[in-house]
Amino acid sequence: MFPSALATIILLAATAAAHFTVPNDDQDMSGVVVNGISYSTRVKYMRLANEALFEQSGPCPFAAYGTIIVNHTADEIVCRGANFRTGDPTRMLMKHPSIHGEISAINACTTVFAGRNMTPTEIYAAWGELSICTTSLPFHTNAESCPMCASAIRWSGFKEYIYGTTIQHNYNVGWGVITLSSYDVFQQTRQLPGYQTVMLGQILTNETDPLFSWQYNESYPCPNGCEKRMSVTRGYLGCVDPNA
Ligand SMILES: [Zn+2]
Repeated sequence: MFPSALATIILLAATAAAHFTVPNDDQDMSGVVVNGISYSTRVKYMRLANEALFEQSGPCPFAAYGTIIVNHTADEIVCRGANFRTGDPTRMLMKHPSIHGEISAINACTTVFAGRNMTPTEIYAAWGELSICTTSLPFHTNAESCPMCASAIRWSGFKEYIYGTTIQHNYNVGWGVITLSSYDVFQQTRQLPGYQTVMLGQILTNETDPLFSWQYNESYPCPNGCEKRMSVTRGYLGCVDPNA
């Protein structure tokens, strides 16, 4: 199934319009099985990625970027992360501009591994081992990664990279983005040592897209029971947690 989807992706790339259009947008991924993992399992973990974000940042954070790292064999979340703009403000690491959800989750997993008294060499090897076998460590992020994070995913050697909302979607609804898709980043990483990372995008976009669609559109409905209120800092209507 995936090779045919990939063929479609390549075809779309060849017919892309002159304006910014990532080659992997608007794909219907329903029912796609990759690495023997069912679509319903993909959906389950994408929802858990959203829930991890809500737990850390409330029901309608402005930067709604959430990430979890999953061990499918154990059927468990190993680590989770959120964007530095919505992360725990008491943690200095979360104030660093490069700490996107993906980097945050990788850092969290590194801390877990270090807590097991693994050396840096053993930790590096662990990523690679986890990437090649069925005890995989797939990476779920509710939006397509920016080029920095896509590169970090490849440098880490994850077996899988699963995302929901695309860069193209967020570009279309007003977000400032770096207009380089994960597909294009991955195409340029084939010379990296280690293993290739399977990329599976647009999972559960009917639930992830609304999380990113209200920030620059006053008329877009608020997600998760949040309420429209005037933002003092931004000067226009945004969504806020009614219980905050
Ligand atoms: Zn990023």
